[in-house]
Amino acid sequence: MTQARLMDGTALARRIVEDTARRAADLTARTGVVPCLATVLVGEDPASVTYVRMKQNRCRKAGIASRHVALPATTTTEELVGTLRELSADPQVHGILLQHPVGEHIDERAAFEAIAPQKDVDGVTFASFATMSFGLPGFVSCTPGGILRLLDEYGVDPAGKRAVVVGRSAILGKPVGMLLLARDATVTYCHSRTRDLSAAVREADIVVAAVGRPRLIRGQDIKPGAVVIDAGYNPGNVGDVDFDSAVERASLITPVPGGVGPMTIATLLDQTVSAAETAAVRITAA
Ligand code: NAP
Repeated sequence: MTQARLMDGTALARRIVEDTARRAADLTARTGVVPCLATVLVGEDPASVTYVRMKQNRCRKAGIASRHVALPATTTTEELVGTLRELSADPQVHGILLQHPVGEHIDERAAFEAIAPQKDVDGVTFASFATMSFGLPGFVSCTPGGILRLLDEYGVDPAGKRAVVVGRSAILGKPVGMLLLARDATVTYCHSRTRDLSAAVREADIVVAAVGRPRLIRGQDIKPGAVVIDAGYNPGNVGDVDFDSAVERASLITPVPGGVGPMTIATLLDQTVSAAETAAVRITAA
C-alpha cells in the first residue's frame, strides 16, 4: 500500500496569515482601525508566557496590535472577570484571548463567559460553542477550526463519513466533533472511559486524535484509506498517533509538528481581523 499524503499545516497556515495581514492592512488603510488582540495571562507559568509571547509576535507581523494584561498568580475569579469585562467593553480591543490554564483557584468557565461573544476570537465561550454546534456563523475554537480548514484544503468532505474524535476537552475534542457533525459527519466521541478504543477507531473514515498521550493511536487500528488528524502535541514533538505505522494505512495524515499546530494561531489571527472588520462596519453604520 502507498504511504499517506501529508497534510501540510505549515504551508496552509502561512497562506492564511498572509491573507489575514493583507486584510488587516486594508482595514487600517480604509478606516484607520488597527485590529487589536488583548492577551490576558494569570501568573508566570513559563510555557504560557512563551505561548502568549509567540501569539503577540505573530500578531505584530500580521499588522495586528496586541495589548497584554499580566495578572499575578494570586488574582481571584472576580478580579479576572472584572478585567475581561473591561476589555469586552473597550472599543479599541477587537479580540480577547485568555491564556489557559488559569490556575486551580479560578473558576475558568466564569472567566471565559466574561468575554463578549463578538470578541471571543479563541472560541471558548458557551455562545461560540452553540454557534459551532448549530453550524451558524460565529467564532470557532482555534484548533478545531484549523482542523476543518485543513480538511477543506485537502478536499475531505466530512458529509456522510464516520468521524471518531478521541478526546472531549472543551477547547478541542468537543468542538471539533460538533464542527464535524455540523458538516454532516457521523460522529463518535471517545475518551478515557471508552471501553474499546481500537474498535471505535477501526470504524473511522476520519480520525481526530486530541488526547495528549504519545502514540496512543496505532497504525493497525487505522482503517485503510482513512484521514488521520493528529492534534496531540507531547514532549519530544510526538503526536497522539503512531505516525510511522499510521502513514502506511491512511490516505491523508497530519505530521507532528507541521500539521495541526500552525493552524491554531493562523485561525486566531484570522478571527481577530474578522472581529475588527465587523466592529468597523458597525461603527460606520452607526
Ligand atoms: P485534555 O483537556 O487533557 O483532554 C484530553 C482528553 O483525552 C480527555 O477528554 C480525556 O478523557 C481523553 N483521554 C485521556 N486518556 C485517554 C485514553 N487513554 N484513551 C482515550 N481518551 C483519553 O487535553 P486537550 O487540551 O484537549 O489537548 C489534547 C492534546 O492536544 C494535547 O496533546 C495538547 O497538547 C494538544 N493540543 C494541541 C493544540 C494545537 O494547537 N495543536 C491545541 C490544543 C491542544 P476524559 O475526558 O475522560 O478525561
